[in-house]
Amino acid sequence: MTNPRHNTRDIYPATGTGITAKNWQSEAALRMLMNNLHPDVAENPHELVVYGGIGRAARTWKDFDLICDALRDLEADETLLVQSGKPVSIIRTHKDAPRVLIANSNLVPRWANWEHFNELDKKGLMMYGQMTAGSWIYIGAQGIVQGTYETFAEMGRQHFNGDLTGKWVLTGGLGGMGGAQPLAAVFAGASCLAVEVDETRIDFRIRTRYLDAKARTLDEALALIAEWNARGEAKSVGLLGNAAEIFPEILRRQLAGEKLPNGGPDIVTDQTSAHDPVHGYCPAGWSVGEWRAKQSSDPAGVDKAARASMRAHVEAMVGFHDAGVPTVDYGNNIRQMALEEGFGRAFAFPGFVPACIRPLFCQGIGPFRWVALSGDPEDIARTDAAMKKLFPENKGLHRWLDMAAERIAFQGLPARICWIGLGDRHRAGLMFNEMVKNGELKAPIVIGRDHLDSGSVASPNRETEGMMDGSDAVSDWPLLNALTNTASGATWVSIHHGGGVGMGFSQHAGVVIVADGTDEAARRLERVLWNDPASGVMRHADAGYELAKDCATLHGLRLPGIMR
Ligand code: NAD
Repeated sequence: MTNPRHNTRDIYPATGTGITAKNWQSEAALRMLMNNLHPDVAENPHELVVYGGIGRAARTWKDFDLICDALRDLEADETLLVQSGKPVSIIRTHKDAPRVLIANSNLVPRWANWEHFNELDKKGLMMYGQMTAGSWIYIGAQGIVQGTYETFAEMGRQHFNGDLTGKWVLTGGLGGMGGAQPLAAVFAGASCLAVEVDETRIDFRIRTRYLDAKARTLDEALALIAEWNARGEAKSVGLLGNAAEIFPEILRRQLAGEKLPNGGPDIVTDQTSAHDPVHGYCPAGWSVGEWRAKQSSDPAGVDKAARASMRAHVEAMVGFHDAGVPTVDYGNNIRQMALEEGFGRAFAFPGFVPACIRPLFCQGIGPFRWVALSGDPEDIARTDAAMKKLFPENKGLHRWLDMAAERIAFQGLPARICWIGLGDRHRAGLMFNEMVKNGELKAPIVIGRDHLDSGSVASPNRETEGMMDGSDAVSDWPLLNALTNTASGATWVSIHHGGGVGMGFSQHAGVVIVADGTDEAARRLERVLWNDPASGVMRHADAGYELAKDCATLHGLRLPGIMR
């Protein structure tokens, strides 16, 4: 029997100004779907897997083709409905309505667990959309690099007087998102030792310039860190190994007072795909080949062994935390897995959002991104320069854009990310639209964001961990966010479940809007790129954060039940 999810085709999005869809809105969706599966972008494109464990762009290859056909056929007043990666309907709407509405991996709460999802997935009834995989706005590892940089830089400010020179980060996982960690650490001024079980992932990061070196033994990796520290250089090494074995070993050496650079790591985190115990975390002592084979032949066995290893991994992280090393969970739900394995102190160290990011979310600041549909890197260079002119006072943004331009190799269609918030996003969007209109850019720009943003997600072990009013699990907010963006005229909007932290642990929404240089697009951009971050300010003001209330007052938000 042929596997409907396997194909050896290589997918590349069209570039340039000639389009095969009937307008730029559906052309943008088509190019971005294909870009998600670009060989330089996706982690396993032949299986439709974009990133984050089994986060897919379409349910099967047949569905991929049907979505492409539908997008090419779609009129400017029609909308395509996609249910867990399968195109299910084309409906008559209107020009300002989204061209695509997407729902991925949603399950009624009582059934919202991996067991039930995997059963449906196996029967071909569902698909895991992660966050930006199934909503067609993944831009490779760059999509997370600035968020990771902000997190490490904030840890530097909190624990090392803002200077990470000569410090080193210990982490795990060099996948689609985790692969951004070494570069983000280097940007923040620290060296990085990332433990990765799959050698091809290490090689991928070296090829795309996110990682500097590879080591096969812990001693080799530590020697490199020591050498870089001594020279005051910030560089990164991928260590081929299992985090569940390496983390405890480094902790053991630290507690025993054995020789380690700086006596031990200065920051500890992890980004293995712990959210998915069957497909995301390789058990200690297993080879990658054995792990992959048993994912289908013995999923229960993988699940059991992976959970036991995650417990050992988290025990070591708690050990570092107890020893005074700043330690954060980087959004993969590994603490929950260890807790379920009976480790009562799994949540002893915090998640990165309450530890570092929440003040940004209070101001609607989050991962704003854009993509040049022309395929021409020059278009991104022009937008970089224009962003600096538009925000002359934002020195952090200037530094970021300079570093990104110098160090980030584009994957697939050229793209850029930067964290900006309410009051700034719509200005950037309108500016890009103007640049398309007056011919400064060769083709339209797609603007979107991660679902990991201030108003678009409920995820009690991650984005909404420890909300000050205890409303961590309230998922009305991301649903309102999706409805807001639909009503405001976004080009495609999505509602997902289980992204980042796995089934049962999150609900979230995505938005993408096209700047095609028309006046209608300008009106939509102004509404969407104001209302979307405003929904994050609203959510945090409602939870009682003063910073969010001040931001709402500054921008004149009308929040009748929250503030007068
Ligand atoms: P991925 O599946 O592409 O990569 C995970 C990597 O971990 C793989 O390369 C895998 O080989 C490696 N790995 C698995 N088990 C290992 C082990 N025991 N030791 C060492 N390496 C191991 O996933 P990704 O896209 O990189 O995402 C990683 C995690 O981060 C996911 O749980 C995802 O949901 C989460 N995430 C967090 C954020 C955030 O902002 N914090 C954003 C996106 C994703």
